[in-house]
Amino acid sequence: AYRDELTGLAGRRALREQLEKLGSKYSIAMLDIDFFKKFNDRYGHDVGDLVLKMVAGDIAKAGGGSKAYRYGGEEFTLVFSGKEVAEVKPTLEVLREAIAEAVFTVRSKNRSRNKSKKSIHSASARNSVKITVSIGVAGSHGTENTPEEVIKIADKALYRAKKQGRNRVST
Ligand code: GH3
Ligand code: MG
Ligand code: MG
Repeated sequence: AYRDELTGLAGRRALREQLEKLGSKYSIAMLDIDFFKKFNDRYGHDVGDLVLKMVAGDIAKAGGGSKAYRYGGEEFTLVFSGKEVAEVKPTLEVLREAIAEAVFTVRSKNRSRNKSKKSIHSASARNSVKITVSIGVAGSHGTENTPEEVIKIADKALYRAKKQGRNRVST
């Protein structure tokens, strides 16, 4: 789909089309929400969806000449046409920090993890929740790489960001 229904961001097809039109200089960042499975387990899938939407809103407003896409699940892509990695890193750091500092107020259901047991905490409660993202970024500049290859390199950088402790930008 061109537009992702949940987040309102452009989707995979739109991303593929932009990749085809890129010139020789660009950077691509891959973003992934940290520990999102645990987040869903704790607060429920609906709250997860809500937080996903809010994070997507922040990503869409990242600026710095970026175009945002929902890559899939809790993964996003930012394409910076005409920019080198060194130019986009400050934008990514500001975005990462803005997401990490945002406090989302949600109603949690206090679900029991074991569905066969009835939870004694059935009442809704106000909860302040926080979320972080890890980001991997790579650029085309000075390489012969295709956009698909640049995405793969950004993905490897993202993997390193996760391994180094999450809530960080890696190159
Ligand atoms: P990591 O920090 O390593 O990325 O851990 P993680 O738990 O985020 O990674 P993992 O890939 O194991 O889990 C991704 C989770 O994202 C699992 C899935 O339930 C959740 N998820 C993916 N898409 C959606 C969605 O549209 N809505 C909600 N609520 N959750 C989603
Ligand atoms: Mg993921
Ligand atoms: Mg994740």
